[in-house]
Amino acid sequence: MSVIVQKFGGTSVADATKIRRAAERAVAAKRLGHQVVMVVSARGKKTDELVSLAAEITDKPHPREMDMLLSTGEQESVSLMAMAVHALGEQAVSLTGGQVGVLTDSSHTNARIESIATERMKRHLDSGAIVIVCGFQGTDDDLNITTLGRGGSDTTATALATVLQAEVCEIYTDVEGVFSTDPRLVPEARKLNQISYDEMLELASVGAGVMHSRSIEFAKKFRVPLRVRPAYSDEEGTLITPASDEADSVVNGVALIRNEARVTIGGIPDRPGVLSVIFSQMAERKIPIDLVVQDVSSGGVAEISFTVPQDDLAETLTAAQAAIDELGAGEIQSGTNVSKVSAVGVGMRTHTGVAAEMFSILAEANINIGMVTTSDIKISVLVDRNSADDAVLAVHRGFGLEKDQHPTPRIGFVKKISEVGDDQQKQAQLEQDVVARLTNMEDIVVSDVSLDQAQSRVTISNLPNSPGVASQLFSAVADGAVMVDMIVQNVGAKNRTNISFTVPREDLDQCLLLVRAVLEEWPDADLSFEREIAKLSVRGIGLRSHTDVGRKMFQALFQAGINVTMLNTSEILMSVVVSSAEGEKAHNCLHRAFDLNS
Ligand code: ADP
Ligand code: ASP
Ligand code: MG
Repeated sequence: MSVIVQKFGGTSVADATKIRRAAERAVAAKRLGHQVVMVVSARGKKTDELVSLAAEITDKPHPREMDMLLSTGEQESVSLMAMAVHALGEQAVSLTGGQVGVLTDSSHTNARIESIATERMKRHLDSGAIVIVCGFQGTDDDLNITTLGRGGSDTTATALATVLQAEVCEIYTDVEGVFSTDPRLVPEARKLNQISYDEMLELASVGAGVMHSRSIEFAKKFRVPLRVRPAYSDEEGTLITPASDEADSVVNGVALIRNEARVTIGGIPDRPGVLSVIFSQMAERKIPIDLVVQDVSSGGVAEISFTVPQDDLAETLTAAQAAIDELGAGEIQSGTNVSKVSAVGVGMRTHTGVAAEMFSILAEANINIGMVTTSDIKISVLVDRNSADDAVLAVHRGFGLEKDQHPTPRIGFVKKISEVGDDQQKQAQLEQDVVARLTNMEDIVVSDVSLDQAQSRVTISNLPNSPGVASQLFSAVADGAVMVDMIVQNVGAKNRTNISFTVPREDLDQCLLLVRAVLEEWPDADLSFEREIAKLSVRGIGLRSHTDVGRKMFQALFQAGINVTMLNTSEILMSVVVSSAEGEKAHNCLHRAFDLNS
């Protein structure tokens, strides 16, 4: 008999009427002949209330006790839900994570699932009961209660769907489905009928709060068919699938992390191993850093900047201090008045000019861009917090993502250059091979490391820090049909902007001509380039949030004595640039670090 998992979020079980409605939905599925597992979140704002209550008592609650406290919210909802099902004349049993056998590691408040027992759930399902499971929680091997991180009930649901080989995992929530951006922020946002795992994973990781990003990791790794649906109507919602049929549009979603913080560690020695120390210190505290920029060093001194969610800032500063102590020199600066805006779309793999388009859209809206990082399906920019809403709206409109529009970029730098290749299929197969060998459900999946020796690096430093600079530069390059790959931008010392990017080596000379023409306007800017570089790309699932991937990667490169000059991180791809002479060596050492066959 087919199993269906239905997850209900907090607002969808906020009061008795909504609980009854959710119960009716499960009962209807049961009466259609399915075995039904419900995963339920804490009611309404319950988890927030519990967090505030703890804060009234202490500002440093022990994480173990936080888990003990927070897990009660879900226990309240599952019992009420079971009563609601009973009242409808069906059998039901409510179970905590521990009673099901959701085994996690011991990282309280942010635990990862190791395995899930199915016997007890199956026994109840086979006896005809609806099984109602507390989302967001498990127990470690010493029976301590753990929680999976805020929003973690989505992850419980996809994990249960995986082990029960469910036909579908339905996520019932308070909106119609997944939108092109947060519909509460941008009312003209469009509901998507489909979105790919990769896009949803990247969007969830950069602020699309509709799904917990780790739940998409599960769905992608174990090929769980996932549907996000409204709890208040019978609309079909959004299907999250291996590949979406909206691939023709270059951007499918825009996301915002409003409360981001920026950290710069300056005055550190310019030698291999600096990134390794920083990533290791962050990984120890499970802080996923983003927009990582290593600035061109001057006088043997380097500067590294990155962003973190503002809530992680205090912990990040402790980690940064520990990194400085280890490195023997350095100073930390941080700022909080910033937000991160990201555009995501698998179409970026097959189109050029998307970055130029995005920078031009922001320039037209007179919004200054502080930092930039790109990956193969994502562009993220850091902006002042007071222009964050305008930036989201501008990017959303600029790519034509509003309701009733066919998504087409408005400015016109975007050009299609290729069809989606066999690469994606090959990649999917490699991933499935790695997944089949996992011992723990949430273990790291790194499926491939590739080496590209056909690119060059261009760096322009000392540009003015004002709206429109990146736009002018990349528009010129896009006009010349030069395909830009990795881009990083930072505003460094003296409030001047530095931009680095890579281009195909055969286009380097053409690109330099185009750039020099634009630079006439900014005589202080310095142009430099490296004709022969090696770019290494590590592919996998959940790379940024599994902070251990960065740690392993930079440790391995450091141990091989290899210096990294540029890097980009995302959930599905991490790329670094090293000198061409060290390309092969770096390739081999990363293969070894991630246990891949060459
Ligand atoms: P639940 O309690 O059901 O888990 P969440 O609050 O976690 O619900 O997620 C739903 C919310 O996510 C919506 O109310 C919406 O404001 C927000 N959201 C952010 N980005 C998006 C998006 N791209 N599409 C849909 N909803 C989004
Ligand atoms: N109740 C938890 C939270 O509010 C888990 C969830 O709702 O997914 O974060
Ligand atoms: Mg949620």
